[in-house]
Amino acid sequence: MKAQLLTRIGRLERDSRPLQEEEVTDPIPEAGEVLIQVAACGVCHTELDEIEGRTPPAYLPMILGHQVVGTIVELGPEVTEHRVGARVGVAWIYSACGGCSYCLAGRENLCRDFQATGRDHGGGYAELMKAPAAFVHPIPDGFNPTQAAPLLCAGAIGYRSWRLTGLRAGQSLGLAGFGGSAHLVVQMVQHVMPNAQIYVFARNPVERDFARNLGVTWAGDFGEQPPTPLDAIIDTTPAWRPVVQSLQYLKPGGRLVINAIRKQVEDQSELLKLDYAEHLWLEKQIQSVANVTRQDVREFLQLAAQAKLRPQTEIFPLSEANRALVELKMQGVVGAKVLVP
Ligand SMILES: [Zn+2]
Ligand SMILES: [Zn+2]
Repeated sequence: MKAQLLTRIGRLERDSRPLQEEEVTDPIPEAGEVLIQVAACGVCHTELDEIEGRTPPAYLPMILGHQVVGTIVELGPEVTEHRVGARVGVAWIYSACGGCSYCLAGRENLCRDFQATGRDHGGGYAELMKAPAAFVHPIPDGFNPTQAAPLLCAGAIGYRSWRLTGLRAGQSLGLAGFGGSAHLVVQMVQHVMPNAQIYVFARNPVERDFARNLGVTWAGDFGEQPPTPLDAIIDTTPAWRPVVQSLQYLKPGGRLVINAIRKQVEDQSELLKLDYAEHLWLEKQIQSVANVTRQDVREFLQLAAQAKLRPQTEIFPLSEANRALVELKMQGVVGAKVLVP
């Protein structure tokens, strides 16, 4: 099969072609695994974290990609819950141990043996991939593969982030950063909580216009004071400045949920502006989001089908994975990028 291989770790500014397309041996499904013919794979900011070494792959070369939609073409021994021809998706959670206290409590995202698709095992930047049958999700009808792919990470982790805000009907939600995840959160919240007020902070005027077109209450640049303090804010940026500013914009008792696997070091000095009275006192909370559970993925897929969520996508052939990654880093466009083999 054809695959895009990550062979070395480095900064994308210095090496704009970190992936190489090569012909590699087809994966063979072992007991409990299925083989999937990839129809689409979303491009995620976490891939940049892998390429640049903030969350490096378990081994090299690695096939990245953890928003995979495709068709089951072969079942390994002992697989009973899927059939050949079924349309399925694979998300960031590739596997978890199933026996630890976290797994048993439905918090498999925090399992010590959490394995990630496209980081600990080969992912979807390829024509074929294999995955454990128990961690493969049926894709509801009504989505084509390129529409469904961004739901598997941007959507599912957006869903988890929103659940962690504890937002209740009538409350206000801020979104710091407006990329692939945030625009799905807007559509989801509008469906589940039609009266919620949504405030968007985005650096790029195109992103602010995109947010306004989706019907948000207010959109401004980072550093612009929203018209009212907010009950919760989800930060999806790689930077620190939005963290400090978001804490300032929260109501007493408000919660900041940080949906980022790693933060970049470039603006870490912004943290020195943290003022206890202004940013933390009055029981403001900070909560990070780590990974997703299978339940997050499956609940979100159902919700997305009910709400008829249609992510805005930009399609690239698999052979242009490097260009998609560079454009993601430069944040030139809105919506979600998807690779098609
Ligand atoms: Zn992701
Ligand atoms: Zn576990």
